[in-house]
Amino acid sequence: MRLQTKTTLLTLALLSSIVVILTIVSLLSFRQFSINTAKAHVRSAAEIVRVSLTESMINGVISERQQFLSRLAEVQGLLEARVVRGPHVVSQYGAGLEIERTITPDPIEQNVLTKGMPYYALTEEWSSPVFRATIPFIADAEGEPNCMACHRVSVGAVLGAITIRLSLVDLQRTAIVTISIMDAIMLSAALVMTMLFRWQLTPVVKTAQGVQRVVTRAKSGDFGGRIRAHTGDEVGQIARDLNRLMGHLKQSLSSITRDVARLMHYDLQGNTNLLATTTEMVETLVHVSQFKQAIEEDQTIDEVYARIARILKDHFDTPHFSIYEVDPEHNRMRVMFVDDPVAAPNTPCRWCDPMILTKADTCRAQRTGKTIDAVASPHICSRFLPNSAESDAHPNEHIHICIPVIHSGAVGSIIQIVMRRDHGRMFQLLTPFIAVYLRESAPVVEAKKLLAALRETVLRDPLTGLHNRRFLEEFVETMVATATRKQSRISVLMTDLDHFKEVNDTYGHDVGDDVLRAFAKVLTEQTRASDTVVRFGGEEFMVILQESAEFSGDQVAEKIRSAVERLKIPLPSGGTLKRTISIGLARLPTDSEDFWDVAKFADLALYKAKSEGRNQVVAYTEEICAVDNEIG
Ligand code: GH3
Ligand code: MG
Ligand code: MG
Repeated sequence: MRLQTKTTLLTLALLSSIVVILTIVSLLSFRQFSINTAKAHVRSAAEIVRVSLTESMINGVISERQQFLSRLAEVQGLLEARVVRGPHVVSQYGAGLEIERTITPDPIEQNVLTKGMPYYALTEEWSSPVFRATIPFIADAEGEPNCMACHRVSVGAVLGAITIRLSLVDLQRTAIVTISIMDAIMLSAALVMTMLFRWQLTPVVKTAQGVQRVVTRAKSGDFGGRIRAHTGDEVGQIARDLNRLMGHLKQSLSSITRDVARLMHYDLQGNTNLLATTTEMVETLVHVSQFKQAIEEDQTIDEVYARIARILKDHFDTPHFSIYEVDPEHNRMRVMFVDDPVAAPNTPCRWCDPMILTKADTCRAQRTGKTIDAVASPHICSRFLPNSAESDAHPNEHIHICIPVIHSGAVGSIIQIVMRRDHGRMFQLLTPFIAVYLRESAPVVEAKKLLAALRETVLRDPLTGLHNRRFLEEFVETMVATATRKQSRISVLMTDLDHFKEVNDTYGHDVGDDVLRAFAKVLTEQTRASDTVVRFGGEEFMVILQESAEFSGDQVAEKIRSAVERLKIPLPSGGTLKRTISIGLARLPTDSEDFWDVAKFADLALYKAKSEGRNQVVAYTEEICAVDNEIG
């Protein structure tokens, strides 16, 4: 209920209660007043009757008393006046006149005659209230003439009683009229007071309504609401203070919002709720700064992509997404992350034509470096090709927003968000927020990429592209631990080209390098991806094999040896060159549980292969070690 209605009703209720109470009090007072007045009247009437009767007795006209009583009864308002004789008078003077004999005292009169006590009562009939009094005439010896002069009774005896019935209708009518006039005056006063109160309350109510309106607008982020100050008092001051506060908030919030939006590259146009947007932007910035710190501390670039994926999934509730990394040098892209890799097992690219992986410039986001928003422009990209049972079941239900992430001026990665068509608008609004995370991640990804590349150059041999000895030193522990966990045997092959010095001497160093490259290629081709080929130094290469039932170390060694034997290396001057290699083999944990011991044993076996005529594979035995010790 509104304040003004409430206070009006309250005032009316209060004043009505006062009127009702006053009416009741007045009615009761009037009743008491009427009784008292009636009592006084009947007492006077009784006294008059007594005096008249006494006078009649003295004057000898007592026999005419009935005319006097009849005339008395004609007085206005007096309904009845009758006298009954007491037993003493009856025994002295008889039952009286003819008419008096017909009157039998009623129980009240009998009681009064017996006890000598007056009786007063109001007959409560609303339409005609009547006051009845029965008053005894008591014999006394005072006055002149005194009662004893005529009556043979003792003092205090009851001589008779008079009953008077008085109508109070006139008094009642007067009371009603008077109280009605009073009520009317009171009610008019109550109405005037209520109006005055309402009039006084109007500025308070208007100000309260204004405050409510302004605060409601402020809650929805609009601080433009103002209130009119209706008065110059405290209520008016509230309005002026609130207006000042709103002005201050609007100015401060606008400048904060502008700054934060600039920080976030967020377009504020058409935004109505500055407060909610600013809160959201500030929360995002705080979260982004935590995110940035986390990715800076991540070790690998894959961890960074995984963290971006987690943000998309958990923070933005992104149903489907892919993260692509662009390799601009080779115009290729790689899928670094996909929300559900098993959803589309038959294609390397769940949401796009796989062509974008081999020809990166066919991807619109990669080519233009702009966000591709299929919500705003449906069918904008012909490469969007959802590949999964889910999308097959609901074709055209999915749409995409692809956000390119610029790394050092070029598109370094692309985040593709895929959602149901009816969620498109929501993700369109979320895109600027997602973009902040991506922008912040870009330099970190770039730095991690550079670091990885740098590390790769440190760990790889530039001539052959194989891992180098440093790599071996860093990763041997992990390799051995993995093999031990899998309970598989490791074979270490130490290989060395036979008479390689001659190649350098005969054809020059460049041809020597070509031979080394060709040899490295054979080693890579003849081993599996799980095996490791390391350029150990000069023209010595180490192959570390994870042995299995199908691939024993000596079989692979023999395969390598025969492949090199068959290898024809073209010479720049025409013709080809053929070389052989010698291989020494040792096993972990059979020969030793220490990797570097096994490497040394493989080297000893290689030495034996060389000394026994080259172009052969020699497996390490304990005798080799014994011979070595003898020579040593
Ligand atoms: P052996 O059969 O006993 O192994 O005879 P070898 O001539 O191969 O003798 P050795 O293994 O001692 O010779 C190593 C040669 O490899 C010496 C060095 O000039 C050459 N060499 C080492 N590294 C490179 C390289 O990077 N490029 C070229 N072209 N030659 C290299
Ligand atoms: Mg050598
Ligand atoms: Mg050699």
